[in-house]
Amino acid sequence: GQDTVFEVTVNRLPHGGVICCFFDMTEQEAVGQLRRDFVANVSHELRTPLTALLGFIETLQGPARDDAKARERFLGIMAREAERMTRLVRDLLSLSRVEAGERQRPQSMIDLRGLLTSVQATLRPMADAQGVQLELKGAEGALMVRADGDQLTQVFHNLIENAVKYGAPGKLVTVTVSRSMSEPGVRGPALRVEVRDRGEGIDPVHLPRLTERFYRVDTHRSREKGGTGLGLAIVKHIVNRHRGRLVIDSVKGEGSTFSVVLPLS
Ligand code: ADP
Repeated sequence: GQDTVFEVTVNRLPHGGVICCFFDMTEQEAVGQLRRDFVANVSHELRTPLTALLGFIETLQGPARDDAKARERFLGIMAREAERMTRLVRDLLSLSRVEAGERQRPQSMIDLRGLLTSVQATLRPMADAQGVQLELKGAEGALMVRADGDQLTQVFHNLIENAVKYGAPGKLVTVTVSRSMSEPGVRGPALRVEVRDRGEGIDPVHLPRLTERFYRVDTHRSREKGGTGLGLAIVKHIVNRHRGRLVIDSVKGEGSTFSVVLPLS
């Protein structure tokens, strides 16, 4: 469904005749287009909070100057918009850092159970505030994987945070770890971590595009929840760097399961 793009060079030979070279530039063209789209998206994402901030600053300098109540409220909104920009810049930096190191193999041995326990502890206050219960189930003992600890922390932080954000109040978010002897797309024995929520679920039409940068099922809802639209793109890149796989299963109205499969050795 995509056009093929050629670059053509024509060279005249000294004794007559010409040589035409056709270069297939379809892929370069597609990469260029992706980059342009990305820059346009980033600009848009930054402009939205900036426009809001400038609007409130103007109002505070003018009409609302002496209105203490309005000032209080506007400053609250301005702080939230500034925080949104901070999160966006943080996620953009993460993404570019992950991309820059994508070819290097992670070296440290990491205990996955310890890592998951500490990610859950970090997210517990947020889960409590939403009335969501977090549980960790599965294989006993230490589960060692060769990985970049900070990056894996980010993977499970993003996935569990999404499960809490898009999960239903009063319902469980379950993280299950299991060992598995063979997984499609992963070499050798593997560890599988499933993050399951009982939230709204995702319509299957969205699944193939979910890990694209800035792709959201519901932009308004994502913004309201403080999302940047980059969380799953970051997850996908980190999992790829670990030669692993991200599998998404979801049933509308029942909930979603995001599974990360990592090679054991
Ligand atoms: P965001 O910052 O918007 O949460 P993500 O990249 O983390 O960005 O996720 C992309 C989109 O995928 C979200 O906007 C949301 O629509 C959808 N999504 C992610 N996780 C879940 C989930 N557990 N349940 C339902 N929808 C989800």
